Amino acid sequence: MAANTTLVYDLPPLPAYTLVPRPPLVAGIPDNILALILPVLAYWVVSMFFHLIDVYDLFADYRLHTPAEVLTRNRVTRWDVVKDVVLQHVIQTIAGLIMAYFDGPEYIGREDYDVAVWARRIRFSQKALPYLLAVFGLDASGVAANLSQNGHKILAGAIAGGKYPGITQSIISSSGIEAVAPAFTDWEMALANFIYWYFVPGLQLLWGICVVDTWQYFLHRAMHMNKWLYVKFHSRHHRLYVPYAFGALYNHPVEGFLLDTAGTGIGFLTSGMTHRQSMWFFTLSTIKTVDDHCGYAFPWDPFQHLTSNNAAYHDIHHQSWGIKTNFSQPFFIFWDRLFDTQWKGEVKLRYERSREAAEKQFGGEAQQESDADADTDVASEKPSQDAMVVSAEDSAERITRSSLRKKTATLSPSVDSLKSVNHGVTSSVL
Ligand SMILES: [Zn+2]
Ligand SMILES: [Zn+2]
Repeated sequence: MAANTTLVYDLPPLPAYTLVPRPPLVAGIPDNILALILPVLAYWVVSMFFHLIDVYDLFADYRLHTPAEVLTRNRVTRWDVVKDVVLQHVIQTIAGLIMAYFDGPEYIGREDYDVAVWARRIRFSQKALPYLLAVFGLDASGVAANLSQNGHKILAGAIAGGKYPGITQSIISSSGIEAVAPAFTDWEMALANFIYWYFVPGLQLLWGICVVDTWQYFLHRAMHMNKWLYVKFHSRHHRLYVPYAFGALYNHPVEGFLLDTAGTGIGFLTSGMTHRQSMWFFTLSTIKTVDDHCGYAFPWDPFQHLTSNNAAYHDIHHQSWGIKTNFSQPFFIFWDRLFDTQWKGEVKLRYERSREAAEKQFGGEAQQESDADADTDVASEKPSQDAMVVSAEDSAERITRSSLRKKTATLSPSVDSLKSVNHGVTSSVL
């Protein structure tokens, strides 16, 4: 039975809550499994977008390298790249599934309670304001009384140390007693909601990003400092002198697991993210890595302008002259700045030299091929033993190469335009 009794509360009371399991975002797929599927999906969707741009020669002015360079400088076929990336995706998915096995279910229902906890912290922290004002020689109670008389009651309450006698709520306790208790002000609730729903998740994401950057910088740098590590593992990624989007995760499986899977895994585990947040984190990290290898410096690509680390920055690391610099990946470059490993020399001439060398080599190869084609024509009636053992992979690669040659031939005006001012590389790296 409710009684009209007033209880004294120091702080607004926290609401009761009931926990229920969080329903999955997509019916039938648990959130932690969806968090494993989305990055793989994002990898191929985003990299196929860039691949189509490459194949159809769109935005050629923004290419970091000419098609002739793609043709002559890489030391691995696209097919081998695809195979290793698929293997890496399989490994990271298995690692994620093992983690998911030990994951407990996630619950919802506590959100209002947690927001109120933040509102209480805000109320509590206002107690410091009178002391802070006293440091500047101001009498908080006097200022508050003045403000209150002029109608600024909420501001007066904050300055007085979080005292809002006029803001109350009626509550009924578990024993059925009705009571008048202090309530939170609108601004306290708005701030608490912002902290709970945006600020803390933002910090968790930033923490995860910094963990990944830190993990990757030191391991990546170690791979370049230690000859055995480089030769055994990391040299594989550097077969791509001219990176392209779906080559982003072209790594030795051990390196792929150590750098990417373990790095993002530790970032997630130490950040306290929920499974829903981890979907954003894993997918964002994946898209950023793909973008960093896309081979284009686009003015309209937000991922290339969020931080100083982008395709142009990482491309320098893929060049023989820049390989001992620009280790930072995939988000920020503060470790390169801190340890003075950022490329500082000029790049324009170096890029031009690479382009010219590739054009020359390309021309030479094209000549050789046409000579070889002529020889084959003569011998075509009686195929040689050598011709019989050409693997399917070789012929596929040959088709790719000849289509690239055609592309380069048709692209020559664009290739020339790449020699202009900065061939699309942002001025910050030039
Ligand atoms: Zn490297
Ligand atoms: Zn790379």
